[in-house]
Amino acid sequence: VNESYQQIEAVDKEVQAFLTLDKEKALEKAKQLDAENSDAAALLFGMPAGIKDNIVTKNLRTTCASQFLDNFTDPLYDATVVKSLDEAKAVNIGKLNMDEFAMGSSNENSSYAATRNPWNTDYVPGGSSGGSAAAVAAGEVLFSLGSDTGGSIRQPAAFCGVVGLKPTYGRVSRFGLVAFASSLDQIGPLTRTVEDSARVLEVIAGRDAMDSTSADIEVPRFTDALTGDVKGLKIAVPKEYLGEGVSKEVKDTIMEALKVYESLGAEWEEVSLPHTKYAVAAYYLLASSEASANLARFDGVRYGVRSEKATNMLDMFKMSRSEGFGDEVKRRIMLGTYALSSGYYDAFYKKAQKVRKLINNDFERVFEQYDVVIGPTTPTPAFKVGEKTDDPLTMYTNDILTIPVNLAGIPGISVPCGFSENGLPIGLQIIGKHFDEEMIFRAAHAYE
Ligand code: GLN
Repeated sequence: VNESYQQIEAVDKEVQAFLTLDKEKALEKAKQLDAENSDAAALLFGMPAGIKDNIVTKNLRTTCASQFLDNFTDPLYDATVVKSLDEAKAVNIGKLNMDEFAMGSSNENSSYAATRNPWNTDYVPGGSSGGSAAAVAAGEVLFSLGSDTGGSIRQPAAFCGVVGLKPTYGRVSRFGLVAFASSLDQIGPLTRTVEDSARVLEVIAGRDAMDSTSADIEVPRFTDALTGDVKGLKIAVPKEYLGEGVSKEVKDTIMEALKVYESLGAEWEEVSLPHTKYAVAAYYLLASSEASANLARFDGVRYGVRSEKATNMLDMFKMSRSEGFGDEVKRRIMLGTYALSSGYYDAFYKKAQKVRKLINNDFERVFEQYDVVIGPTTPTPAFKVGEKTDDPLTMYTNDILTIPVNLAGIPGISVPCGFSENGLPIGLQIIGKHFDEEMIFRAAHAYE
């Protein structure tokens, strides 16, 4: 834990992964664990961890990287995942930077600072869990928690050269995760190794009475799946994931990874997921619609910053929201409100729901014959800070390979698989059936 803070002291001025540190309490807990030592068998005994700042931590500031929650210093409770980490004896080091309310792909939408990619600080770390990925990559913590609504764990993991897992929808409790798009959001680990990922998932997974969408399905010992054996594993490689828009160096790196699988006795074939091209459009409609409803709770009344300027109640709502939310959040609220409004609902929201079903069917068909789907996590390696900020649409299309997984509710993991010519990491994405994290862990571990 001491070393964690030393590393933060050394690098975080540049990386800017942390928004809030919890040093006093963390050191106290570490001391306590030292003294006990009796529970050294706990799965995460003494492991320094960072938490994305949209996951609520009791009495520890939780901002979602928004000015709206700048003063939210004393949440009343811990998210279920935070409780679970505590019970497994991990030590919370602090809260990690992100795109405001998890809307973004580069961390540039944080209202505090843009986290930098530790491999080259001219580049973005990805987003929205950019702080979570950068902190692990820079050695500031051993692991972190992020949230993934449309790729926000896997994409920054790929950009920062770490392992990032989005579990099956319902595998991990969302209680205490500030909701963005409730039908898509999942919390998951960012780690250095697949084994660490399996351990952390084992700790945070499981049914929670506080989240009715958490599934009552047994949590296996995920580490038991790490056998190193992938003989006979059937891999599907969607041609849409290596098509237009995917850079040559990313394609080449994925082809090399497939050779590794061949040498390990696995087999791969090209398949088609024909509705992939509609995923981004459907996602941005659905996610924005859900966000517009979820973010209605930020009104300056119950928590967060209240505008000082208003003289009546309605103005107080309006001005608090105008001052508190950043541009991207406002853009999504407007898009979502429009898509849900009377007369447009069938044309946009309902249609997007139908597309969502088609995307799910694409995967189900492929999984009748294959164990995993493999492709790149992102079309390109990390881009430069500022490169895409003026063009939200280009930024959105960067999510094309991660979004289908959220729409289908299935699990996906990104593992490092090589480097671009300019020395930036490239991520390999392994996708599995509902609640079959064991299979993707096994495949990822054997490759790693
Ligand atoms: N980049 C996507 C978005 O901006 C994904 C966000 C996420 O997964 N939280 O919506």
